[in-house]
Amino acid sequence: MEQHTNATALEKKARSWLQERGVTIDDIADLVYYLQNKYQDNLTMDDCRHHVHKVLMKREVQNAIITGIQLDVLAEKKLLEEPLQEAISIDESLYGVDEIIAFSIVNVYGSIGFTNYGYIDKQKPGILAKLNDKSTGQCHTFLDDLVGAIAAAASSRLAHSAANDRDID
Ligand code: MG
Repeated sequence: MEQHTNATALEKKARSWLQERGVTIDDIADLVYYLQNKYQDNLTMDDCRHHVHKVLMKREVQNAIITGIQLDVLAEKKLLEEPLQEAISIDESLYGVDEIIAFSIVNVYGSIGFTNYGYIDKQKPGILAKLNDKSTGQCHTFLDDLVGAIAAAASSRLAHSAANDRDID
């Protein structure tokens, strides 16, 4: 287990909100494994978790997480004004700001991230299928894109680190 004792208040908030909304580090690491397993020899879940933790240490990622989750929660409580309330609560496909916020995460480790993001967004493995289950009454309009983007960024980071044979920032 990696230690994160020097995490900022922002990082702690982002991590605890993911957890509260039903997303664990292992859920995201599973997606990274799903994306990278065929390209990396001897890939372990620990490797995947390591890269997820590194992505979560980035300020721009933390900001995207707290912004997106806040909007999901407000939509769930019906506290937004129309037409935003409806757009977010029904996950209207033309709204698109959920994806734009996710792109700020995908961007962090370069363009392979976009390919990975597009791929899991279509396939919706693991936690992404769960977050897209509309029968729960919960709103995950932002969260599903955030989680896919974190996994895609961690996956790019892992690929870059493996190619350079060293860890990167
Ligand atoms: Mg969405």
